[in-house]
Amino acid sequence: MHTLPILNYKYDYLEPYFDSKTMEIHHTKHHQAYINNLNNSLLNTKFSSYKVNKLLSKLEYISDTKRDYIRNNLGGHFNHSFFWKILKKNTFLKGKLKISIKKNFLSFKNFKKCFINIAMNHFGSGWIWLIQSKKKLLITTTINQDNPRMGNYFVKDSGIPIIGLDLWEHAYYLKYQNNKLDYIKSYFNIINWDQASLNFEKSLLCNI
Ligand code: MN
Repeated sequence: MHTLPILNYKYDYLEPYFDSKTMEIHHTKHHQAYINNLNNSLLNTKFSSYKVNKLLSKLEYISDTKRDYIRNNLGGHFNHSFFWKILKKNTFLKGKLKISIKKNFLSFKNFKKCFINIAMNHFGSGWIWLIQSKKKLLITTTINQDNPRMGNYFVKDSGIPIIGLDLWEHAYYLKYQNNKLDYIKSYFNIINWDQASLNFEKSLLCNI
């Protein structure tokens, strides 16, 4: 059975960037719903004992009738679990990841501009990611609850997520309403660069 991860911060911790009410509903209602649906859909199947990463790698082998439902809810569970950990105040981009971002995007300023533009141009629900793919860093988006770990059978760019941002309206509507740009900009105040560096190091070691 998959369970809701406990956050290591309070719902109001990310104020004023992400508001307390949104964080609470997002975690206890939206994320919990993906987990409940996932557990129900895996009941009495050989996949019921699989952990999230193994399930992601086996998605294409799940029967057509169940695949999309599991894809959406497994993706929802993975993406939100990833998201909570990539949020923290007062961390700084440094080390190998900083060097690699400069190498791939010319400067951090340019990386941020690209990230914001691509997020703004993503139509509808989905996610934006910085991923390590084929030894390069790249920014990509996925629809619905897809993610780059699902592989090229499902997404255009497969790879290891370094950072990610939820682009569903449920992630920002209470505080930002239709102002998606301010929501995306606010994310840059609370990216957990320590966790991002850890994700990057793991992607280099293929130790995932
Ligand atoms: Mn969400």
